[in-house]
Amino acid sequence: MKAFTYLRPGDGAEAVALLREHGPDARVIAGGQSLLLALKDRSARPPVLVSLRGVPELAGVRVEGDELVVGATTTYAQLTRAELPGWQATIAAVAGDLADRPVRTMGTIGGGLCAADPRYDVLTLVTGVGARLEVLSSAGRRVLTPAEFFAPGGGTRLEPGDVLTAIRFPGTAAWDGVVFEKFRTRVFDAALASVLCAVRLDPDGALAALQLTVGAAVPVPVVAVQTGSALVGTSAAAVDVDAVARDVVTEVLPGRGDTPALQYARELVSALTRRALVRALAHPRS
Ligand SMILES: Cc1cc2nc3c(=O)[nH]c(=O)nc-3n(C[C@H](O)[C@H](O)[C@H](O)COP(=O)(O)OP(=O)(O)OC[C@H]3O[C@@H](n4cnc5c(N)ncnc54)[C@H](O)[C@@H]3O)c2cc1C
Repeated sequence: MKAFTYLRPGDGAEAVALLREHGPDARVIAGGQSLLLALKDRSARPPVLVSLRGVPELAGVRVEGDELVVGATTTYAQLTRAELPGWQATIAAVAGDLADRPVRTMGTIGGGLCAADPRYDVLTLVTGVGARLEVLSSAGRRVLTPAEFFAPGGGTRLEPGDVLTAIRFPGTAAWDGVVFEKFRTRVFDAALASVLCAVRLDPDGALAALQLTVGAAVPVPVVAVQTGSALVGTSAAAVDVDAVARDVVTEVLPGRGDTPALQYARELVSALTRRALVRALAHPRS
């Protein structure tokens, strides 16, 4: 590992000022779970690291208006312990079921999003439930949708000097049920495919909104917009789960350049979609 200078700002504004002062030499470090691996194999060699660990305003979970605001440096372990109501309990469940205990203890939700590895569960989570991402830079604060935050081919659209400060999740009324399913080969491995199903029902049991989002098997999570919209108004009891799974696969992994890997990804996405949909429709308000 190459030697570096480790800076500890006390607040977000100071972090941004340090990033600006050191320019391309500086890199943010949060829990270090992804970045330290890159430093060790020398694929990243920043001379300056700006640590977010001593910035209290970036950590913790709070409610603001309708939104649940999760500070970017909130660790997965902290999220797992948060007692979140309604569908938001799925946020804690996702955090509690990724990687292993050391990674969950040190790794942060913001670090996972900024590392933007498509296999990371939090990318599918924020996209699937329609969270918004708050970014601070020397130009001020801006709030981005996941489609604006992630670059279409993978990675993020963050500029040097940007700091992700918080993730703004919609309130409990946004969804009646949110289910996340993933497939991994070993329990501590990142996912090969993931699907998030978010459901909102009308009082008569018809689907008011259905959002199916595929992650890991694609460079950046994709919402199967057409499949979801076509089902609005359908009675939840009448949904043909197998047909929906086929439609999601066709929409998200269309059949060009068939390879065994693509066929495998389609099988996984189909199975995970069925599983997520069945669970979400069975207990929509849990
Ligand atoms: C063994 C192992 C298994 C894993 N398995 C899973 C898994 O099953 N599912 C899963 O979802 N993830 C998994 N991960 C990934 C894990 O979620 C990430 O490593 C972790 O979330 C990164 O967060 P961090 O705080 O450690 O970020 P860091 O490593 O500190 O930073 C990661 C990157 O983001 C940048 N960054 C960090 N925070 C900010 C910020 N607030 N603003 C701007 N830039 C920032 C850094 O500059 C760096 O480029 C695994 C990781 C490991 C090591």
